Amino acid sequence: MADEKKKGWEAVTEEEKNAIMDFADGYIDFINAAKTEREAAREIRNMADAAGFQDIGQMTSLKPGDKVYYINHGKSVYMAVVGNDALTEGFNAVGAHIDCPRLDLKQEPLYEDSGLALFKTHYYGGIKKYQWTTVPLALHGVVAFRDGRTQEICIGEDENDPVFLISDLLPHLAAKQNAKKLSEGVHGEKLNIITGSIPDSEAEESKIKAGVLKILKDKYGMEEEDFTSAEIEAVPAARARSLGFDGSMVAGYGQDDRVCAYPGLMAMLDLDTVPERTAVCIFSDKEEIGSVGNTGMASRNFELFVMMLLEKTGIISPYALQQTFSASRVLSADVTAAFDPNYPEVMEKQNSAFMGKGININKYTGARGKSGASDANAEFVGQVRGIFDAAGVEYQFSELGKVDEGGGGTIAYLLADRGMNVLDCGVPVLCMHAPCEISSKYDIYQGYKAYRAFLQSV
Ligand code: MN
Ligand code: MN
Repeated sequence: MADEKKKGWEAVTEEEKNAIMDFADGYIDFINAAKTEREAAREIRNMADAAGFQDIGQMTSLKPGDKVYYINHGKSVYMAVVGNDALTEGFNAVGAHIDCPRLDLKQEPLYEDSGLALFKTHYYGGIKKYQWTTVPLALHGVVAFRDGRTQEICIGEDENDPVFLISDLLPHLAAKQNAKKLSEGVHGEKLNIITGSIPDSEAEESKIKAGVLKILKDKYGMEEEDFTSAEIEAVPAARARSLGFDGSMVAGYGQDDRVCAYPGLMAMLDLDTVPERTAVCIFSDKEEIGSVGNTGMASRNFELFVMMLLEKTGIISPYALQQTFSASRVLSADVTAAFDPNYPEVMEKQNSAFMGKGININKYTGARGKSGASDANAEFVGQVRGIFDAAGVEYQFSELGKVDEGGGGTIAYLLADRGMNVLDCGVPVLCMHAPCEISSKYDIYQGYKAYRAFLQSV
């Protein structure tokens, strides 16, 4: 059993424990500052700038040791530290995603009903809808005006800010709701966010809605029609915290997949020597809805970044791009389900990931006979084991749940499609996709060690 095979916290020295806790403090700050993909891209860029990375578009040529990034439409980021070897020898990459399940405002969201103003929403990613009612929410996003100006919105995070909430039925009147299937207890069209209740006395009609619009006009300079070109996301307002008497875990929103993105980023920023193979980090968007769009992993803008790396390191050949991909190795850094003692029935214990037992490897994901899985080559899995063992990384192997119990996917198949060797390798989490998810600080730190060792591997 994986939970017995690995020592985890038991083998940790006092010095290592301090390093684990310090690393987690930085992680908690990061996820509190970056609750949306735009905010995560901005934080990553700020941290990269501070570490001496430069926008690849500003560079005419690149040499070993140069550090660059490409910001893709403000929502995904590609980074590289140029290695000594020619890029066509292949790069080592860690690829995570920075979008999270949430509630997006509809393009015409605002209405008034029975003394309340509300926002209509459309959920993003796979959520259990009932979990999002009666949870204090913050609104994050951007309004894009016709003249090209943009206005950022972030309200509900400062302790002096108001928050927003979706109502749910009181138990006294919920007999029929309680008798429904859990998946039907709260319909998607009932995820309407309460936003105000004071009428605008000067308005002729819809006075409460008018009251909210007046505040939006004053605060953000926006009219009602500007919602049509806005991206506003409702996310849990709570801040991430340490969990448990011993503070050994992190409870917070958006850990899928920032719990892999942050260790990947820190591994990249902490590379202290010029790597032999070029080191690449990918922070992609839209993973939760299939990696689509020009900021998702399917986007060919990643090809553009690699072609820029090739051209600026002096490699010009019609097949250099595919040659590079085919020789490259990637860890698809995404979370997996940790074994939950409350729900052992969905797991096959011998092939489960346990909290506090290290970073997890999924040779394949998918569902119903591995459908949708890229299924890493055994030779590559063996190579990664060698890299991790040499670096003293604690790791475990799992599948996401029992055979035919369900399944999932990551960005792995899109990288494998391009010809790279790809292996899913990430931090196990409990209550994935809930407004508050749980991870182990031990596993987060093993993720950092794993990604760093992999990026530096020859
Ligand atoms: Mn994920
Ligand atoms: Mn996910």
